[in-house]
Amino acid sequence: MIRFVNRYSSLTHGCETMVIKVAINGYGTIGKRVADAVDAQDDMEIVGVTKTRPAFGCDLAVRKGYPIYCTYDDAEKIAAFASAGYECHGGLTDLLNIADIVIDCSPGKVGAGNLEKYQSAGVKWIFQGGEKHAMTGMSYTSSANHEENLNVEGTRVVSCNTTGLSRTLVPLYNHCGSLSVECTMIRRAADPGDSSKGPINAIKPVLKVPSHHGPDVMTVKPEISINSMAVAVPTTIMHVHVIVAQLPEGHGLTTESIIDMWSNEPRIILMSGGETGITTTAEVMEYARDIGRKWGDLHEIFVWRDGVKLEANTLYYFQAIHQESDVIPENVDAIRALMGTESNWRVSVEKTDNAIAQYNNIL
Ligand code: NAD
Repeated sequence: MIRFVNRYSSLTHGCETMVIKVAINGYGTIGKRVADAVDAQDDMEIVGVTKTRPAFGCDLAVRKGYPIYCTYDDAEKIAAFASAGYECHGGLTDLLNIADIVIDCSPGKVGAGNLEKYQSAGVKWIFQGGEKHAMTGMSYTSSANHEENLNVEGTRVVSCNTTGLSRTLVPLYNHCGSLSVECTMIRRAADPGDSSKGPINAIKPVLKVPSHHGPDVMTVKPEISINSMAVAVPTTIMHVHVIVAQLPEGHGLTTESIIDMWSNEPRIILMSGGETGITTTAEVMEYARDIGRKWGDLHEIFVWRDGVKLEANTLYYFQAIHQESDVIPENVDAIRALMGTESNWRVSVEKTDNAIAQYNNIL
């Protein structure tokens, strides 16, 4: 039977603000990053992370001081951690029992199998972009629909590509009142840590047309009319989006004013390739490493200033997405939305980003 216990209704008690207890189910590429972003905040804490087995990711959790739990409740699987020299505090059910909210960072399409466990435990839940919107019924991007996500039981932080598209298109839509977009996603073939994916010497068109990326934006901002196509290319470090947007008559914008608009939005970096020499994704990633980002991450969307051009009502631009990290701060903001502790998305984003910058001692 599914029960839903509102165990966090007393998050504020008098003047004292309680700290939100966050569980991470799936401590891989996204999970380890979300854990650190949560750990950086003063209004939330990591109460545990899960591993399926005592593999190398456990060492990182130990170094960070995050309690390790087993993804499963199976006694033999839990005992395997101790045999490998790791302290395991129990199974997923034990972790859910001490958490207010769980961030499911399991591999794409696997998370759906965890939903009933979260509902039975009465915790709030956040899935990632590898799950379908139809499964969660809600999706999240801070700039698009933070308010709609306030106090809901669960949501899905949309994929890295959808997050990237939303960052630049939502402010444009908010100015114009309507927007029609065609875009091509030039996708990295695999994450740097993946050894089993490809292509390694081919360009692979995604033959499902349109690709899911454009329509996925409409799960957070249905007012934007958008379609996309995608190709996978042999690189591991970033995606590039080639975007053509039709603005309505009377938009009143110029190329420069669009650049100014984006410059004033959070989590967008604009740089001139010509002036900086940052003309490829390799240099964007080098820049991220130079400014001291952990794992060389870049939470912001990178837009080449000299690649933006408005001709009459048609806007052309390129943007680069660091697939492993742009969704990370969104998970933190989604926690505040679901827990109802911050209703203003801009306030949450600023708090999140400042805390992460301080935590990582970013230049
Ligand atoms: P990953 O494979 O790096 O990590 C997944 C982790 O979950 C692994 O540690 C795995 O052992 C564990 N796991 C396996 N089965 C599990 C289960 N049943 N329950 C809980 N955990 C389980 O995957 P990832 O790249 O971190 O992706 C996680 C989610 O984030 C997916 O939905 C993915 O689509 C989404 N996402 C990934 C990226 C990216 O670039 N990697 C970007 C945005 C969103």
